[in-house]
Amino acid sequence: MKVCKRCRKKEADVILSAVRFCDSCFIEYFERQVQRAIDGEKLGVRMFSRDVRILMAVSGGKDSMTLWNVLDDLGYETCGLHIDLGIDEYSEASRAVVESFAASKNLDLIVVDLRKEFGKSLMELAVRDACSACGLVKRYLMNKVAYEEGFSVLATGHTLDDECATLLGNLTRWNLEFLQRQHPILESTHPKLVRKVKPLFRISDEETAVYARIKQLDFVREKCPLASGATSLSYKKALNELERRHPGLKKAFYLGFLKNKALFGEQEGFELKECEACGMPTANVGLCAFCKLLERSKRRHGEGEQN
Ligand code: SF4
Ligand code: ZN
Repeated sequence: MKVCKRCRKKEADVILSAVRFCDSCFIEYFERQVQRAIDGEKLGVRMFSRDVRILMAVSGGKDSMTLWNVLDDLGYETCGLHIDLGIDEYSEASRAVVESFAASKNLDLIVVDLRKEFGKSLMELAVRDACSACGLVKRYLMNKVAYEEGFSVLATGHTLDDECATLLGNLTRWNLEFLQRQHPILESTHPKLVRKVKPLFRISDEETAVYARIKQLDFVREKCPLASGATSLSYKKALNELERRHPGLKKAFYLGFLKNKALFGEQEGFELKECEACGMPTANVGLCAFCKLLERSKRRHGEGEQN
């Protein structure tokens, strides 16, 4: 029998590349990793303190549901934010998961329904690549809601695997600007830009799956029908293969990056402007990327002319 390497008594139910725990020790380990991230270990700055109310972005997927549950169990006050993208049954199932979790734990939840608010589903907004339009829409709406509802911090369920895949992508393309910006804490650089944090950056996808199983969390298991086999998936696959051969590699890769980030230089400060239509911050002159997407979609569907 393989025993838990922590309590050295119970049988190890959880055997992952870098850890071997019984269920209860795994949960303790998991919560400690999240707490270390929140406390800013190796980051030099805390993500948030106990007296701050956190806006938690929840898609209904495994990682965001895990983070929402762990933040609640750790005693943080959270409000969920779900964006209903209008992707047929997939969005219906995602929204149902989020709503029922919020109701079962008596947690506040804000739902933004793209079709109700803007008269368009994601498919009607996207020109070519649904996933890049989706990223843009989510980033814009998450920040807008956080700002308008008075939150000072927005948490997302990005994991160690997400961060490693992004890092590998940025490195292979030598995208210095993105390398300078990549961090588990994205500070506000404009009064209308809310601080964003990723408390799962020390936790792998495999570990969130184990956490969700032990805690019996419900999450959307179906794949989004618009998923385009993004490059990040092949990076994740390659990194998993390396992790299998060299346990602990992903953590060493990402934490090493954070330690040596200065090698890539400082991000040049540039002044953000405000969108002429919605007033939200943008690097563009005139309309922000979200308002441009809306305008383009209206023109494509023959609605109203721009003057
Ligand atoms: Fe959005 Fe693409 Fe993810 Fe679907 S697969 S939810 S379109 S990012
Ligand atoms: Zn705008």
